[in-house]
Amino acid sequence: MAEGGSPGRRYSRSPSPDRSPGTPPVAELARQLEALYPDLEITLDHGSALELLVATILSAQCTDARVNEVTPALFARYPTAEDYASADAEELQALIRRTGFYRNKARHIQQMAARLVARHGGEVPDRMAELVELPGVARKTANVVLSNWFGRHEGVVVDTHVKRVARRLGLTRETDPNRVERDLMALLPPDRWRSFAWRLILHGRSVCHARKPDCRACSLETLCPGARPPE
Ligand code: SF4
Repeated sequence: MAEGGSPGRRYSRSPSPDRSPGTPPVAELARQLEALYPDLEITLDHGSALELLVATILSAQCTDARVNEVTPALFARYPTAEDYASADAEELQALIRRTGFYRNKARHIQQMAARLVARHGGEVPDRMAELVELPGVARKTANVVLSNWFGRHEGVVVDTHVKRVARRLGLTRETDPNRVERDLMALLPPDRWRSFAWRLILHGRSVCHARKPDCRACSLETLCPGARPPE
């Protein structure tokens, strides 16, 4: 997933002034999404903050299912940040090859791990400002780790699904992920950010597809200003 982000940038919860005027009632949207997707368990397998961080980096342009196929061997081979930092690059690339863009991902993982060792004693920090200073880590990845492992809500995960579905639902008119995030942060209290974004991701994966959203099968259709008429 392509990411943007400004390290250490502070985020206001004020919405963009040009957000869609027909914004649907967010509380009702959240209620319906909760009924549709009650399970909030993230689908990237992990057992530590480091494993979740690595898995999230690998999930760029790749399905979670494919990431989960490669991570058992990867996590067994490199249990610590020191192990990644000192890994043989070609061996690491071979282990993650099936996730795509494996050379870049391997480079990011090794640089990220080296920074963890040099600056954080090999541990994953639990603050946005420190996470986004790690190579290969922007706000989306940082938000995944913060909200799912540390239980901290410093922002909203905005991936390609969240951006697309939020725009169709009239929750934002922005295209820049950081601006989309700012709009979504203004709509709900922080303790709802993780669940709301996760459910938008699930809705994007299952119904609100990029090329052909299945609006006839979508229970949000009556609330959605972006619903498409029958063909
Ligand atoms: S009605 Fe269509 S565009 Fe709107 S959320 Fe549902 S699938 Fe997406």
